[in-house]
Amino acid sequence: MQIVRTREELAAALRVAERPIGLVPTMGALHSGHAALIAAARAASGTVVVSIYVNPRQFASGTDVAAYPRDLDADAALARTAGADLIFAPDDATIYPPGETPPAIDPGPLAVRLEGAARPGHFAGVATVVTILFDLVTPDAAWFGEKDAQQLRVVEALAQRRGGPAIHRVPTVRDADGLALSSRNVRLTPSGRATALAIPRALQAATSAHASGATTAGEIRAAALAELRKGPALNLDYLDIAESATLAPIADEQPLATAVSGELLITIAAVVDGVRLIDACTLPVAN
Ligand code: AMP
Repeated sequence: MQIVRTREELAAALRVAERPIGLVPTMGALHSGHAALIAAARAASGTVVVSIYVNPRQFASGTDVAAYPRDLDADAALARTAGADLIFAPDDATIYPPGETPPAIDPGPLAVRLEGAARPGHFAGVATVVTILFDLVTPDAAWFGEKDAQQLRVVEALAQRRGGPAIHRVPTVRDADGLALSSRNVRLTPSGRATALAIPRALQAATSAHASGATTAGEIRAAALAELRKGPALNLDYLDIAESATLAPIADEQPLATAVSGELLITIAAVVDGVRLIDACTLPVAN
């Protein structure tokens, strides 16, 4: 496995890379969730490229970017074991060359609500860096996690508008206690972590309510909220129930069978110990 940092080194490595090229974009601090993406890319690619770049443009405050964990040696070891061929670990000037205006990418209508509303400019930053990475790496396909459900949909729409690459979805990898793996989890205190467990429990409660015959979003929401209110108070930003493909919100009273085609997406965002956590699940809807 090779580690490259500049555009020139990347281009040289790609000139001799076997196609199809699979890309796994990350911000580093890699864990088993990232490993699942890399393994899925490995199974379908001649060359697997893992990008590691903490993109300042998708963070609102300088503080959060600075606090983001970084450990390239540990990341390289995990990526190699999971099946990466090439790590692209650029610095800011490589992604955003001084004096060059970055492409202005509209993240589209899927980026308006939820994280888009909570973090103004976040998805414009994501769309910009993903576009730059797609242009530099020229992947045939790229792998993204379902934990970041809205990001996944924004990137799928972006890739569709550009005519590629193919975007593959990877299910959320969780710790044994149910918490979705996230590079941010290392910043949770033990009691914060216990509080955060209400998030996967709420998703589980929503899933159970749906499985036992809930017919409205209101019933599903009530089951999830009951779980979120059981433990120590967490700072809930949103508990959202939407149509999975469009992210259109579903009114609590509306019968699901008439409101949704195919699938519901339930997303939760909450802040614990000053750490913003997001999680999501989908539920099939028969209509
Ligand atoms: P990040 O490094 O947090 O920007 O994440 C890079 C990619 O890994 C994104 O596509 C995420 O959705 C995905 N990812 C992060 N955490 C998980 C997880 N627990 N399970 C599956 N994919 C994940």
